[in-house]
Amino acid sequence: MVELEHARDLLTRMGLDTAAQLLDAHLERSLHDQHTYVQFLAELLSSEQMERERRSRETRLKLAKLPHRKGLEDFDFSFQPSIDKRQIEELATLSFVGRNENVILLGPPGVGKTHLAVGLALEALNAGLVVYYTTLSSLISDLLTAQTQGRLNRRWRVYLRPALLVIDEVGYMQLSRQEAELLFRLISERYEQGSVILTSNKYFSDWGELLSDTVLATALLDRLLHHAHVVNIRGQTYRLRDRVKAGVQTVPPAEIPAAP
Ligand code: ADP
Ligand code: MG
Repeated sequence: MVELEHARDLLTRMGLDTAAQLLDAHLERSLHDQHTYVQFLAELLSSEQMERERRSRETRLKLAKLPHRKGLEDFDFSFQPSIDKRQIEELATLSFVGRNENVILLGPPGVGKTHLAVGLALEALNAGLVVYYTTLSSLISDLLTAQTQGRLNRRWRVYLRPALLVIDEVGYMQLSRQEAELLFRLISERYEQGSVILTSNKYFSDWGELLSDTVLATALLDRLLHHAHVVNIRGQTYRLRDRVKAGVQTVPPAEIPAAP
């Protein structure tokens, strides 16, 4: 019994809290099932490992600031036939993140751009990657605040560190020259260093107006699209699905971006 206490104490002091907590239960089971010492040790350590992975995912999930947790399994591909399901499945393998490539989701409101971005982000979190979600307007206001407070460099790391950065809702807000330069700097610094998933309701040809500078927009798109998978969604808004089902006439989508 003294030895058991001693072993538990050692586990705790080495930071193996789960193993310490489960020591009694594992011992009992190993005795009962006549496990070998090696089996006992492997099981005890693997429960520690599993708990660590669970906590790490939980922490990364919280830090990712996702707007919701709807995954790809909740996405109804039959509702949106313009999406190539195999392309999304290929993206879900995350090889694009391994190659620091980008994903651009284009389409009018309600067609599932945010849902797909969050779904891919969840896949990345499950795979152990660091992810961060932001909308363009929060990104810009956050960087501007940091700039005025003289802590832009520190804040910058939030957007450079993640293996995958989601920038949602590009196109709803027109950027001033100063704001566009911040976005340009971010895209340039992540270029070939990390992946970006960006969603937009605007044609690429509208980006000059969006960024208040055609030259800057061209340079930004050049980097963004150099290694990019573009998913062009042309379809009905899912938000009106029930109305469509009920046979109610819907308004046609206002802005449907074309392929680049
Ligand atoms: P967008 O970002 O393109 O404006 P969202 O991704 O926010 O659209 O989608 C609007 C709502 O409809 C969300 O609740 C989303 O989960 C749901 N949704 C959109 N498309 C689908 C789909 N094909 N299958 C299931 N849910 C969908
Ligand atoms: Mg959206």
